[in-house]
Amino acid sequence: MNILLLGAPGAGKGTQAKLLEKNLNILHIAPGDILREETKNATELGLQAKEYMENGNLVPDELVINMILKRIDKAENGVILDGFPRNISQAEALDSHFEEIGKKLDFVFRIKVSEEEIINRLSSRRVCPKCGASYNFIFNPPKQEGICDIDGEKLVHRKDDTVNTIKSRLNVYNKSTRPLVNYYKNHGILIDVHGEKDFMEIFEEIIGIIKEKSN
Ligand code: AMP
Repeated sequence: MNILLLGAPGAGKGTQAKLLEKNLNILHIAPGDILREETKNATELGLQAKEYMENGNLVPDELVINMILKRIDKAENGVILDGFPRNISQAEALDSHFEEIGKKLDFVFRIKVSEEEIINRLSSRRVCPKCGASYNFIFNPPKQEGICDIDGEKLVHRKDDTVNTIKSRLNVYNKSTRPLVNYYKNHGILIDVHGEKDFMEIFEEIIGIIKEKSN
């Protein structure tokens, strides 16, 4: 089964993807996490991507598309895509790749959250650099201040989670990524989910729809 989570930065895609990965036993692919790791390790790809990421811009397609398609090929049970595709040309590349390998996207969930809520959430977000878990020091703090509940790592404030960069990322989302909503609506596979409620309630809704439609 192949699932795509669509939504603005901070909509909660990563949180839902991690829950779905555990529940369905399929691979979670998050280009943002992969690129941050590459940047941390100062690989060639990481160095090329760094500036785009810090400014909240999209990393060029030629660096991202193959990197993701290769991972999709290795995932036998399917994937949860969290952050890819992010524009129409990536979506078209994904469609033709799935067609080539005889697979398809089964579900596209768009998690809807207002811009005001996104700015509030991201500016107080802290993440674990090791496992990628995401916390919010106002709405969803870790048990021990500044420390990841899962692996005890010190939480960090992402460089692109500052108010100015959040605004650029929202502009990029509106211009490049939002058109995917109509793209997948036209393909008849888009499902809207209200994203401003408890994350477990959102998860129950998503998993309920998947189970109902898969039977
Ligand atoms: P994220 O962790 O999903 O918020 O992504 C962080 C940053 O990684 C984005 O602001 C982009 O610079 C880059 N990025 C992530 N996914 C993509 C993608 N599909 N295409 C291009 N750039 C991406």
